[in-house]
Amino acid sequence: MNYLVIGGSGQLGNELMTALKMQEKTFIAPNSNMLDITNGLHLAEIMGNFLPNVVFNAAADTNVNKAQTSISRTLSINAIGPWNLAKECKLAGAKLIHISTDYVFSGDKKLPWETFDEKTPKSIYGLSKSLGEDLVMSEYPQNSIIFRTAWLYSPFGKNFVKTMVRKALSKEKVIRVVNDQTGQPTSAKDLAQHLLKCLDGNLMPGIYHLTNSGEATWFEFAREIFKLVGEDPERILPIGSSALVEQAPRPSYSVLSQRCWENTGIEPMRNWQVSLEEQIEEIKAAVLSEGINGN
Ligand code: NDP
Repeated sequence: MNYLVIGGSGQLGNELMTALKMQEKTFIAPNSNMLDITNGLHLAEIMGNFLPNVVFNAAADTNVNKAQTSISRTLSINAIGPWNLAKECKLAGAKLIHISTDYVFSGDKKLPWETFDEKTPKSIYGLSKSLGEDLVMSEYPQNSIIFRTAWLYSPFGKNFVKTMVRKALSKEKVIRVVNDQTGQPTSAKDLAQHLLKCLDGNLMPGIYHLTNSGEATWFEFAREIFKLVGEDPERILPIGSSALVEQAPRPSYSVLSQRCWENTGIEPMRNWQVSLEEQIEEIKAAVLSEGINGN
């Protein structure tokens, strides 16, 4: 089996490569200069040379605020790119594993979102990801699996856990964090390992929700991070989203229901706090090696 990982320099891509290496799988993970998913010809050439059986699309424009003003770039990477991939996978007979987001939902209800709930994204990022899902599923429903995930963290790149660890270790006395957005903190490492389990479990094509279980607000998430690095969680104070000067509106409740796992023979992912506790030292080490004054 040949695996093609797209977006290998990102959080999930890095963890996917580690998971594939651990299982001694054959894979390539070209960077975005070598393989730009918005370039159909380029993609066809790489697919033709490598002949993958499975393609993981972990590539995306993930800057939710910036997407509000770089609309054509975001649509191109998050919607046209996955469509190109679906076309090429269909030609090659490869399985496409595409990653999407909780931000396809409005967040305007207080019950977990089911896979089949109506999508009404609030932001350009959410809209672009929703279009990407629709294009993949209309082009290649026979052998595409879409996993919606949320609130990813890892030792790589930029993410909320790294930012909070940095703040915890800094001299900042008070850190204000929003307490009116609820979601599912999710370890990119757990996600990568679970994606491989899903492949082994011969999951049917379709849309699934794949996040660590449980839920939290960003404020609760931040306090847990402080606690785990041995800093006083009382330094974190709750604020409302209206106090933030952010460009992109975000869902207030984007918890993804895990009911899609019933009758699949595959367990949902473990609780987010258990996972965070297990990975916090590795993430703290990454922050210290990058320097606590970094991004
Ligand atoms: P990152 O932002 O960490 O990485 C994105 C990757 O996409 C990078 O490797 C980047 O390459 C690559 N990329 C960007 N544009 C292109 C392109 N045109 N062609 C090829 N590669 C490209 O993403 P995450 O790992 O955080 O996210 C993985 C997936 O999970 C995405 O689909 C995202 O939408 C989804 N998701 C993420 C969440 C999060 O909190 N981060 C939450 C919910 C869903 P380069 O570095 O060279 O630019």
